[in-house]
Amino acid sequence: MSIERRYQALRQEVDLCCREAGRDPSDVRILAVSKTVGNDALEEAVQAGIHEFGENRPASLVEKQEAFPEEHWHFIGNIQSRRIQEIVSASDLIHSVYQVHHLAKIESSAQSVDKIQDILLEVNVSGEASKSGLEPEQLRECLDESLHYPHVRVCGLMTMAPQGDLVMARTCFAELARLLDEMQKSYSGTKIATQLHELSMGMSEDWREAIETGATIIRLGRALFNDDF
Ligand SMILES: *Cc1c(COP(=O)(O)O)cnc(C)c1O
Repeated sequence: MSIERRYQALRQEVDLCCREAGRDPSDVRILAVSKTVGNDALEEAVQAGIHEFGENRPASLVEKQEAFPEEHWHFIGNIQSRRIQEIVSASDLIHSVYQVHHLAKIESSAQSVDKIQDILLEVNVSGEASKSGLEPEQLRECLDESLHYPHVRVCGLMTMAPQGDLVMARTCFAELARLLDEMQKSYSGTKIATQLHELSMGMSEDWREAIETGATIIRLGRALFNDDF
């Protein structure tokens, strides 16, 4: 099946899932995770009407953003301090910020290229030691710190659920949605409350659970690009 056929089929399934969950399909974006594919597949994806792509390595992010500068690029991978300038220069949205001390570097990098950098805070909801992300208790510290940085805009939260257990995945996603709601209430009246609305959660295996619990961005790699998924 072509990328276009898979994308159209997925988008229809996503729309149906939204309606069944009582949600407006236009509130859920599909981020195409292109980390395993090259420029030919990207070209095909763009022709199919996909315009938001996610990469998890800074070098590939920059390379692909330069090859397809008209498209929107998101960074979804592990962040190292020394790569922040590169990541900021190429990303519309960084999904995976969880070190409080990275905020100052994102601020100075964004300022140097004259942009306001949209970010999400990655939360380790499941508590698995192998997963990265803020502990839920660290969320306030990070949000408070972000108030010092005019070139950083925290737009929401992101998480990765444990693989292979959809019941557990749903519990994690529901908890992330609860945390977003709690933060919106607790920062009401500040710029944080008005900006905080995105929930980046759900991948090829668990996007349905994510939509049912409030995802606004689902990150799809294999379901979109792999014929044998
Ligand atoms: C690879 C990756 C995805 C996509 O995973 P699939 O299971 O292929 O859909 C989503 N989010 C992150 C952070 C990833 O690294």
